[in-house]
Amino acid sequence: MSNLPSHARVVIIGGGAIGASSLYHLAKAGWTDCVLLEKNELTAGSTWHAAGNVPTFSSSWSIMNMQRYSASLYRELGVLVDYPMNYHVTGSIRLGHSKERLREFKRVVGMGRYQGMDLDILTPDEIRSRYPFLKTHELMGALYDPYDGDIDPAQLTQGLAKGARDMGAKIIRFCPVTGARRENDEWVITTPQGEIRCEYVVNAAGYYAREVGKMFGRAVPMMVMSHQYILFDEIPELAAWSKEVGHKLPLLRDVDSSYYLRQEKYGMNLGPYERNCRAHWTTPDDPMPEDFSFQLFPDDLERLDWYLNDAVERVPILGTAGLSRVINGPIPYAPDGNPLIGPMPGVPNAFEACVFTFGICQAGGAGKVLAEWVTEGQTEWDMWSCDPRRYTDYTDQDYCIAKGMEIYGHEYAMHFPKHYWPAGRNKKLSPIHGRIAALGAQFKPYNGWERAMWYAKPGDDTSEEATQTWGREGPWAKRIEEECLAVRDAAGILDLPGFSRFRVKGEGAREWLSGLITGRAPKPGRIGLAYFADDKGRIVTEMSVMAIEEDFFFLITAATAQWHDFEWLQKHRPADAAFTLDDVTTNFSCQILTGPTSRDILAGVSDADLSKGWLTHQTAQIAGRYCQLVRVSFAGELGWEIHTKADDTAAIFDVVSDAGQRHGLKPFGMEALDSLRIEKGYRAWKGDLSTDYTVLQGGLERFVDWAKPSFKGKAALEREKQQGVIKRFVTLTVEAGDCDAPYMSTLWFGGQVVGETTSGNWGYRVGKSIALGMLRADLAVPGLEIEVEIFGDRFKATVEPDQPLWDPSNERLKA
Ligand SMILES: Cc1cc2nc3c(=O)[nH]c(=O)nc-3n(C[C@H](O)[C@H](O)[C@H](O)COP(=O)(O)OP(=O)(O)OC[C@H]3O[C@@H](n4cnc5c(N)ncnc54)[C@H](O)[C@@H]3O)c2cc1C
Repeated sequence: MSNLPSHARVVIIGGGAIGASSLYHLAKAGWTDCVLLEKNELTAGSTWHAAGNVPTFSSSWSIMNMQRYSASLYRELGVLVDYPMNYHVTGSIRLGHSKERLREFKRVVGMGRYQGMDLDILTPDEIRSRYPFLKTHELMGALYDPYDGDIDPAQLTQGLAKGARDMGAKIIRFCPVTGARRENDEWVITTPQGEIRCEYVVNAAGYYAREVGKMFGRAVPMMVMSHQYILFDEIPELAAWSKEVGHKLPLLRDVDSSYYLRQEKYGMNLGPYERNCRAHWTTPDDPMPEDFSFQLFPDDLERLDWYLNDAVERVPILGTAGLSRVINGPIPYAPDGNPLIGPMPGVPNAFEACVFTFGICQAGGAGKVLAEWVTEGQTEWDMWSCDPRRYTDYTDQDYCIAKGMEIYGHEYAMHFPKHYWPAGRNKKLSPIHGRIAALGAQFKPYNGWERAMWYAKPGDDTSEEATQTWGREGPWAKRIEEECLAVRDAAGILDLPGFSRFRVKGEGAREWLSGLITGRAPKPGRIGLAYFADDKGRIVTEMSVMAIEEDFFFLITAATAQWHDFEWLQKHRPADAAFTLDDVTTNFSCQILTGPTSRDILAGVSDADLSKGWLTHQTAQIAGRYCQLVRVSFAGELGWEIHTKADDTAAIFDVVSDAGQRHGLKPFGMEALDSLRIEKGYRAWKGDLSTDYTVLQGGLERFVDWAKPSFKGKAALEREKQQGVIKRFVTLTVEAGDCDAPYMSTLWFGGQVVGETTSGNWGYRVGKSIALGMLRADLAVPGLEIEVEIFGDRFKATVEPDQPLWDPSNERLKA
């Protein structure tokens, strides 16, 4: 007889490290009526053969958070669940071959310190003293991570499973999920052992996540790579050393050569991420098998030759060892290499915790995050970097394969701010893509849409090599400056395809919207910024609300926010609402025309009433085509957004461009826009605006209408106001060196860490390096001098008054 229960609150599909950790954390949160279904034995997927490295290093704040949590959980897990496990904290040395690599390390040291971890930079001599077998040719230094180590992945999974079972959760093995259907607001999950009904379901099926996703009508954006590591026989010299000092070597990562090398008993384990990598199960002649439990791919050592030779030159004792075993297993990749953790897009009460490339070191943190999503509908840390909704409809299989291979081959690459990764491009093109490309546009995708970042002139170096820098200077700098100054002195035009746009129309629309946003919905004919808070008062999103009629709005939001924001609206729309809510993103397009001569340009080509003030909108004609002219400018100058039907983009662009020639009009790109907006203190979503901060911390109180009887987040915000805000949004001017402050640079005062930056850039109109950030509230005093740590060095920064640096009274904007 089947031991499958007929009902559970949550069903988790997949019993690898991630499924087990999700079950453990759900049970820990008191949700013990949860069942994990595993088609084979626990760990049968990628988990059983993983090398088990547990780094804390990440250049992403949220992923570092997740890994830090994992490492600290693993230190105590064996005792907590009474299941002893092999977890060796050996520390690690991450080698740096270049100045830019050392800068990356120094930034991570700063982030680590903020998260309570004491990472360190080593000189080549210090490296040798920790790793006597190493040659230091071509090295500039290293990052030392004392928390790094390795864990037995099977023991980790079994330990988490035991902990979950002890709390009352259930695990059913050899129970493959074969289908899912929705009945009476419940999920019915089918298996050969029968059916189980549940409120919530979690796809934790690892490299089978795409197959499981199909059962829910969801195309999981992922692909599968083959990943290998080589185990070597015992090395007598290493054995002797290890016995003498009484510990193992720290794990070595030569990230510029792209491999790790770990002591395994008295031998070694070499794991490269090769450029000449291999995808699997991507073509008809290499179909994904029905079942691959506990299986491996055939060895493919040729691919690893270069890496093996490089490692032997670095650690010559490796050359004396015989090869004992090769492990070549499947490893899933999402297009950016981050996992998918969070709501399953478009599918009610379903979540994803899958497609992990570092699922052993992330399992602890991922389980915590997943459990929060399920039990609370929100997470403690902002986890947008892993949110499945960061991808939308453009992630077809070709795209996933191209991106997965690119990321795998560059697993340890530095992500420089002006480098736009080349694979999987041109998924969505603006109707004037060809025109702006001919003008020199350098593109980067936003939610699949290619947008101009800056405009190169003939002779400018647009090679990938030129972008390998954290510095402000480069072939783009002069051009971005010219674009910014054109916007300041004349006018600029920016093509903005893919601006997400939702239409809310019908009786009750205004009242509903008013209950969701912190402020007031604008009157018909006007547009305004609106902030959406969660029940804790944290910033979920920002949208521009364009009121067409009393109960008819367009909500406009970031391209990348399309699925995230639409789901937020859908989730809060009452089932019996009389108004409609539609995503009309692809019907429209937008161009920004801004700068002091923009009125003269429009006067020559449109029938609009150009005397209408800031924050108004009107229907007008340009080139005989209807458009909505919206009097706003994210650049902070006189200007209009020209919203058109997508098909009319080209005609309007041509006419405006022609007319603009006499008025100094230049095309400008997203890089210039970022510089212009930061001078105005305008926040960017998922940098300055995230659920890591409340609306009050974000300095957005002027967008809160306390007089409204209620709105989402009001109670929490009232409480916070009463108790006092602990950190505050500030604008800083920084006496920076050759780099502006990247996201999450630490702020210092009196020898203490007192905050962090959320974005930074050079402001060409004010001629200063600017950072936006969050500072301890008592220090948010205009004129106060603090320090900001940028790539390891501290620079003087001044807290600016709570107003835009450029045009503080908005005279130019309202001209
Ligand atoms: C060679 C190699 C070395 C690695 N080394 C490391 C490392 O050092 N550190 C690190 O952090 N990561 C490492 N990884 C990655 C790591 O193995 C994975 O990220 C991790 O195991 C993923 O765990 P998971 O639970 O998401 O997936 P999996 O372990 O693949 O588990 C998914 C489970 O779902 C089950 N399943 C699938 N379909 C169904 C269904 N329909 N019904 C029921 N059950 C189903 C499968 O049987 C499987 O057990 C390595 C990977 C490889 C290939």
